[in-house]
Amino acid sequence: MQDFFTESNQKLALFNEFLSSPKQIVITTHQNPDADALGSSLGLSAYLKKKGHFPIIITPTDYPDFLRWMSGESEVINFESDRQDAAKKLIANADMIFCLDFSALNRIKGMEEFVKQSAAKKVLIDHHQQPEDFADFVFWNERAAATCELIYELIEKLGDKHLIDIPAAECLYAGLVTDTGSFRFDSTSEEVHRIAGELISIGIHPSTIHRKIFDSNTFDRMKFLGFVLGEKLTYLPEYNVAYMAISKEELSRFSSKNGDTEGVVNYGLSIKGVVMAAIFTEKEDMIRISLRSVDDFSVSEFSRTHFNGGGHKNAAGGRSNDSLEKTVEKFLSLLPQYKEALQN
Ligand code: 5GP
Ligand code: MN
Repeated sequence: MQDFFTESNQKLALFNEFLSSPKQIVITTHQNPDADALGSSLGLSAYLKKKGHFPIIITPTDYPDFLRWMSGESEVINFESDRQDAAKKLIANADMIFCLDFSALNRIKGMEEFVKQSAAKKVLIDHHQQPEDFADFVFWNERAAATCELIYELIEKLGDKHLIDIPAAECLYAGLVTDTGSFRFDSTSEEVHRIAGELISIGIHPSTIHRKIFDSNTFDRMKFLGFVLGEKLTYLPEYNVAYMAISKEELSRFSSKNGDTEGVVNYGLSIKGVVMAAIFTEKEDMIRISLRSVDDFSVSEFSRTHFNGGGHKNAAGGRSNDSLEKTVEKFLSLLPQYKEALQN
């Protein structure tokens, strides 16, 4: 593990020196970017532009429509689009590559080998557990609620808070709101509220941002949610576990789009007494698993041990190459050994 450059003045000085002349910069984030991933990328990009650099954001995959209001979003390149060749050149020719909101290179999917091969200086800014050691500069804090929090702190540390304008502040606020579950998860600290307050004093309107993210459901999505809660939610009181498994056919029956299952897992967790909630979604090439927990039960460890994943203590993801049925069977077969840990 490299020094955290925020805790090492020498590292910070090197970083500053590197950015003292205009640079070609690529910013990337994890696949299926969420509001923290895209918001931190756009917030950082807006800042770097003001500093005279040439940043471009490349995402490994597309992201949901409810993030398309973010300022600068239309310039983002999706690596899985017809602009892949241009993206590869940008990665190869970059002076610096910022890796935001992920700590394991396999989370950037098809971009992984190109980022690895690039001679660019790599900067990791993230809050996920167990970061891999691939970056030249590391700004990592597992206790941070969101990568947007770290971006704000970095800009602050560099003495440039005044360069955060309203559109950038909106992007950063979006990451804080979503990664803290609207300021209710354990990670909601005094620091989160301080930064949120400062973003409000820049001129953002929290209710507008909240509405753009959470009240932009399609009618289809609401019907889908009704179906999932009515037909698919399973509750196992003996384990304090709730889960749902959704097949490809069910997703297409409700014209489900990228992002429609996001947040659905939290409904499982909202049942009184539930300690772990899971959602299994059948994708083209794998089963995607999303896990949530409360208090000391670490879904990140659970996912890392059994489902090729990771994340945070109370919010993690993973995947399985088995069928949907087999994956759920495996999940259920694991529960007896966790019975004690799942008591609250
Ligand atoms: P979600 O369930 O919303 O997809 O992910 C929950 C959290 O876990 C997010 O912070 C996400 O970035 C992280 N996460 C999701 N899948 C993986 C994974 O496969 N590996 C790791 N390390 N983190 C993941
Ligand atoms: Mn995040």
